Amino acid sequence: MTILGIDDTDSREHGMCTTYVAFQIAQQLQDESAKLMLIRLNPGVIHKTRGNAAIAISTTCNTTTTFETAVDIINELAELSDPNTQPGLVVAPSTFDDVPQTVSEFSLNAIRSFHEKETAVDLIEENDYLSSSWNGGRGLIGALAAIGANNALDEWTYECLTYRDKNLWGTERNVDSNSIFEVSNQLYPSVWDSFDKNENYPVCVPRTPCPVLHGIRGETPDAVEEMAKKIKSETPAHRVLFITNQGTDAHIQPGTIESLEEGHSYSVDGVVSSKPYTIEGGHVFFKLKGTSKEILCSAFEPTKQFRNYVRNLDCGDKLTVYGEVTHGTLKLEKFAVRNLVTTKTENPLCPICNDRMKSSGRSQGYRCRKCGTKNSHKIQTPYFRDITLGWYEVPPCARRHLAKPLIRGGFDSILHPEI
Ligand code: ZN
Repeated sequence: MTILGIDDTDSREHGMCTTYVAFQIAQQLQDESAKLMLIRLNPGVIHKTRGNAAIAISTTCNTTTTFETAVDIINELAELSDPNTQPGLVVAPSTFDDVPQTVSEFSLNAIRSFHEKETAVDLIEENDYLSSSWNGGRGLIGALAAIGANNALDEWTYECLTYRDKNLWGTERNVDSNSIFEVSNQLYPSVWDSFDKNENYPVCVPRTPCPVLHGIRGETPDAVEEMAKKIKSETPAHRVLFITNQGTDAHIQPGTIESLEEGHSYSVDGVVSSKPYTIEGGHVFFKLKGTSKEILCSAFEPTKQFRNYVRNLDCGDKLTVYGEVTHGTLKLEKFAVRNLVTTKTENPLCPICNDRMKSSGRSQGYRCRKCGTKNSHKIQTPYFRDITLGWYEVPPCARRHLAKPLIRGGFDSILHPEI
């Protein structure tokens, strides 16, 4: 058995898509049993192309054939004229299950943290893997990470990618949005993130000039393939199934507010320590306090109605938040309300006039301005909240590839899923 890993063959400007390059390699190898894995790496990596995706293929072909076939196809299809496209190719004489622990640890780090290219090169040499790189070969990191991902993770989903006829690449896609809406309703929740109902937007159709017509994500191969087949559109050229770590929160690691590092994604507990506020452009912020530090949390404008849940938070509410730390701010992907403040401390009411009493000065108690009645203590009044306990998430149109939709389950409280 042979595993091949590739990464970074696409370009922000010129399109192409590493999944398509991988599919072409698999097709050339003519191995019906080949398995394709689409591995999303740390979304906090600065040099990433669009989705920071790498691909692994397992095949019964020998390593030499696999390697030579892949080199030819990368030379033919990768956007090598763009110096920021730095393809990497790694070929291992192995099955996914036999990949050594050092390589699977490297994978987990590539999904949650950062690597230098040299670390990948050392591991490739140590394991006698074949490799090739272009334009500097930063893609070797993702290529090796894709090979080790199977042993690094234990939760998987599926994506069925449908590719366009080559003659249509770069032209407007002809896909019936209504049919996406209807089929996604039929198959939900075994498929997710195909259509955003609030925005009336087909999330599964890319807007870039890449070869992808649509990508359907879900729980089982049958569900994603069924949906892909039922969408009305221009005549597709190919349909390919990928096993993937999308929608699994594989990028999230448990942390504390005191220990957060830039470019990493965390789940952390804290207490809201500033009232949420909205700035120009509609971005919402609040502070979350840990044991000794605070972090600014953000819900940017593209997260749409999610911002309303954030705006309904208040000081003292206890939360668990998920998100990536960028420029010292935690970009919220989801949060759980653990405890809500339900009383407010206010000046006492005058029992005679029913007016709010005023402070008589520091430690002097409170006094009614009208009749002079005095009271020494503040009172607790009920604070009715517009938010309840449980999990809240950004809508499909704002969801990151790796973020786990609430509807997939496995969360520890009431769910308020966005569909
Ligand atoms: Zn009074």
